[in-house]
Amino acid sequence: MDLNNLVCPSCGAPVKLKNRFVQVAVCEYCEQTLVVQDDKLDPTGKTAKMTEYPTPFKIGRFGQLKGKDFEVIGMVRYEYEEGFWDEWCLNMAGEKLMWIEEDEGLFRSFERIRIKSAIQPWDEVYPGSLITINNIEIFITEKNSAKILGAVGNLTVKRIPGTTLKYLDGTGDEKQFTIEFYENSINLKTGDDLNRSDFTFKEE
Ligand SMILES: [Zn+2]
Repeated sequence: MDLNNLVCPSCGAPVKLKNRFVQVAVCEYCEQTLVVQDDKLDPTGKTAKMTEYPTPFKIGRFGQLKGKDFEVIGMVRYEYEEGFWDEWCLNMAGEKLMWIEEDEGLFRSFERIRIKSAIQPWDEVYPGSLITINNIEIFITEKNSAKILGAVGNLTVKRIPGTTLKYLDGTGDEKQFTIEFYENSINLKTGDDLNRSDFTFKEE
């Protein structure tokens, strides 16, 4: 597949994929959410216009995280009862990817880990429960659900506006964990808090 020669099936505009692991691209002209399927882009019929809030992150912006170069390639916005949070996808050198969660000026880097063991259904777990995943004992501190409000740019995970996400937050092994329950997949996320000073951005 030629990552640089794709066209939006909805409006005909060029769509660039910045990384060969991209699964979803949002057309920057018509805002259609497109799923990368083999060597073409499938329209989902979903578009989402998102309000812009003050943030140092912007699609196409270059910068450094703790001295390592990145380009911001995508963002997903999640809505829950207390507001919303954004997750930014950073393309690092060597096609490595990094995700940054931004919630009211607080930043956290995280990676997604495939779950290798059986896991209790979300419905059966509560704050205070102790569950074991991939041999890590996790003490559950929060149980909640959210909705994908929208996305921009390139995403290396399949996130479609309107989808519901159920999740559990917890701690274990001196780390923070989030377990994400989607209809067809369950993921484990582990993260580290970051300071605003950990990022520098190139002037535009
Ligand atoms: Zn388009």
